[in-house]
Amino acid sequence: MSDDLLQRLREALGTQHVLTDESDVAAYIVDWTGAHSGRALAVVRPGSTEEVADVVAACHRAGVAIVPQGGNTGLVAGGVPDGSGNQVVLSLGRMRAIRDIDPVAGTITVEAGVVLADVQAAAAAAGRLFPMSLGSEGSCTIGGNLSTNAGGTAVLRYGMTRELALGLEVVLPDGRVWDGLRGLRKDNTGYSLKDVFIGAEGTLGVITAAVMRLFPPTPVRATAWVSVPDTASAVTLLGLVQAHAGAHLATYEIVNRAALDLVLTHLPGARDPAPGATSDWAVLVELAGTSDLDAPLEAALGEAVEQGLVEDAAFAGSSAQRSTLWALREGISEAQKVEGATLKHDVTLPIADLALWTDRITPILESILPGVRLVTYGHVGDGNLHFNLSPPVVDGGNGGDALLAAAGELTSAIYDSVAAARGSISAEHGLGSTKAAAAASYKSQVEVDLMRAIKDALDPQGLMNPGTLLA
Ligand SMILES: Cc1cc2nc3c(=O)[nH]c(=O)nc-3n(C[C@H](O)[C@H](O)[C@H](O)COP(=O)(O)OP(=O)(O)OC[C@H]3O[C@@H](n4cnc5c(N)ncnc54)[C@H](O)[C@@H]3O)c2cc1C
Repeated sequence: MSDDLLQRLREALGTQHVLTDESDVAAYIVDWTGAHSGRALAVVRPGSTEEVADVVAACHRAGVAIVPQGGNTGLVAGGVPDGSGNQVVLSLGRMRAIRDIDPVAGTITVEAGVVLADVQAAAAAAGRLFPMSLGSEGSCTIGGNLSTNAGGTAVLRYGMTRELALGLEVVLPDGRVWDGLRGLRKDNTGYSLKDVFIGAEGTLGVITAAVMRLFPPTPVRATAWVSVPDTASAVTLLGLVQAHAGAHLATYEIVNRAALDLVLTHLPGARDPAPGATSDWAVLVELAGTSDLDAPLEAALGEAVEQGLVEDAAFAGSSAQRSTLWALREGISEAQKVEGATLKHDVTLPIADLALWTDRITPILESILPGVRLVTYGHVGDGNLHFNLSPPVVDGGNGGDALLAAAGELTSAIYDSVAAARGSISAEHGLGSTKAAAAASYKSQVEVDLMRAIKDALDPQGLMNPGTLLA
């Protein structure tokens, strides 16, 4: 049966786009973290919506599961196959066309495999802004962004990917194509079908193209790296910046000392922007607009200093200095990867509870694994913390083993405490295969039943990315 399917796929795509050699498939079967890998029956690389539909229909007839894959930068092992060797990885990497751009309507129509940075560049070339920005933007694709409902550093002002999407084209699990590529702002004609596929992590179909929103550019920036004593001060400062800057507030990111130290250690040329500060926390705050924004930022920070919320602030005086500050924030994932074992958590809490939550969870984790390093950073303006744990520094270098041994207990403590605060255990990375079971245990039975009903209605054979999102 698998030989028949491979033959059919080769006829549909051409032999060169059906990869089965070990060396050819290697990059597609291991995730970005390197911690999760599997085996694939084949990796297929269709070049058009019609070819995607052919692949999906052929797999449907053969009863073979499909794992869609974009840039493979996901952090929850949702885009790599399991260990069975029976799944087909469907890479969107050849579908990189920008089909249309309409600056006046504020829309761009792109194929799913277009890399996020290329969408940004195409928008800029047309005098518009595509605001979504992630540390992985040089590799992740718009199809992956939609499928994970990605967040990033511009959510505070522009919203998650879902809020940037107007229409989708999707190949359904039986191979039919749903053409929902409409750029309409107003369309009250029933269920919002696009929203079913956004954040579905490839479990309901393959997104092949999308109409995304564009915005007027915001070329003027005011950026500062601000040392704050604690998370409570960071949250209070957020309110002050909002009051002074209003809709100009574009980014509000938090970084703790452990995260900054990792970047200073591993990012070539990185320098501490506030070397004299003793604070354990810093925020990267940026205003964006079309006219000078230094005044509102200085006013907010001046008031914060008077209230004892700020220890030190470094302003970016040029775009080069701005890039230097941003590199510190964006280098954290890479720096932590260099250090080896990491327990990643991506949680959201009501902003008002953030400070209390971090104060409450820290001693609990310390009691489970003394010396565990909390590498905390993230989009605090969205209530979202990347709450990652690195091993204790121990003689003999066995800290990683201790972290892995305590992993279950540490993660359960974090998730229990997030659930108790009515937060979310996955703010923006999705569930993949690593968090699917945990998510089900923190959702109500009604919520799980609704999700299963949608899955069963669209993919009754369960062939779209099994094991991801729904355990
Ligand atoms: C350094 C770094 C920084 C990051 N920062 C952020 C951040 O700030 N915010 C954030 O949200 N995420 C972040 N991520 C995670 C990741 O980049 C995002 O989840 C991104 O949206 C994944 O896109 P991708 O193209 O790489 O998708 P992949 O990793 O290839 O796939 C992700 C999931 O989507 C599915 N999928 C992919 N393409 C399609 C498609 N066309 N149709 C159907 N299903 C599909 C896959 O099956 C999988 O389940 C970061 C990752 C890294 C490595």
